[in-house]
Amino acid sequence: MATATLTIDLDAIAANWRALDRLSGQGVQTGAVVKADAYGLGVPRVARALAQAGARRFFVAAAEEGAAVRQALGPGPQINVLSGHMAGDTEMISDLDLTPMLNSLEQITRHLEALPGHAFGVQLDTGMNRLGIEMLEWQAVAPILLEAGPVMLMSHLACADEPDHPMNLQQLEMFHEMTDGTGLPRSFAATGGILLGPKYHFDLTRPGIGLYGGRPFETAQRVVSLALPVIQTREVAAGEAVGYSCAWEAEGPAVIATLQAGYADGLLRSLSNNAVLWDGATPCPLVGRVSMDLITADVTHLREMPKALDILGPNQSVDELADAAGTIGYEILTGLGARYQRRYVESRG
Ligand SMILES: *Cc1c(COP(=O)(O)O)cnc(C)c1O
Repeated sequence: MATATLTIDLDAIAANWRALDRLSGQGVQTGAVVKADAYGLGVPRVARALAQAGARRFFVAAAEEGAAVRQALGPGPQINVLSGHMAGDTEMISDLDLTPMLNSLEQITRHLEALPGHAFGVQLDTGMNRLGIEMLEWQAVAPILLEAGPVMLMSHLACADEPDHPMNLQQLEMFHEMTDGTGLPRSFAATGGILLGPKYHFDLTRPGIGLYGGRPFETAQRVVSLALPVIQTREVAAGEAVGYSCAWEAEGPAVIATLQAGYADGLLRSLSNNAVLWDGATPCPLVGRVSMDLITADVTHLREMPKALDILGPNQSVDELADAAGTIGYEILTGLGARYQRRYVESRG
């Protein structure tokens, strides 16, 4: 088989949810963010594992994503749409029983006119300037909207992964100012916000990356491993070059393994000459350019040729690979290729 195997540990995802649920403290509900196909890991299986662990409130980016979640979970769990209620979403919101987080006056009007009585939440902008209603508009519409009974008021932190950043407290103050006294359930913290401590938790937390084993949740269990099959090996002589642009040259006689996976599978080109693969506990440097479907590794020092090398696994986390690529774990996860064979394990299930 020539495609790489992406192994996803559903028990580790469940354990990470439970750990974040404990961190979220007494009386605080813990949701689960499953946008972008559950950060690239496959929303049907992941959403079901999270529901089994106890999650009842899910978040997706767009109404279309809500369809797969509803199909996986059936009726009951709340599916919240972060982009709100866009033109063309009405039928999906109604048929799939989705809960849009309304972001603007335009969305508020659309929702209340198209689906009066249908559940909604409100996203407030507390300084990130990305999504949500700003203070002045909020002051104008709050009286009407609060009467319509939103299921929650939420906002999002811009710098939660930097605990000492002054923006965190500024946004917290703004969120209080906009929501104190409403008596409504409030949601403010994603993974980073949970780690900032209880005053950021309010009624419902919304972890995403932490569920999938990524920073800033440093004590997360590892969730993914990725094994790339060796397609071919060859000996090269000193001075011979490997791959596009001859970007790597052998200093002495070497053995090169060619592995199936490249930038079309999410192995970013910035990993060229700048990453490590693993044969068990033995590192093998990635040499030369990452090409579309293939990468090459120096395996001169291996006594036996393995069938595959790991690029994610016990010796290399998503964040470590992200560091090598000059990006963040979120981008590595959501870039994991459609060509990988996804294998789900439930070791402790
Ligand atoms: C993506 C997202 C989350 C989850 O964030 P993580 O950092 O992955 O925990 C929560 N809330 C909103 C509004 C988001 O866009």
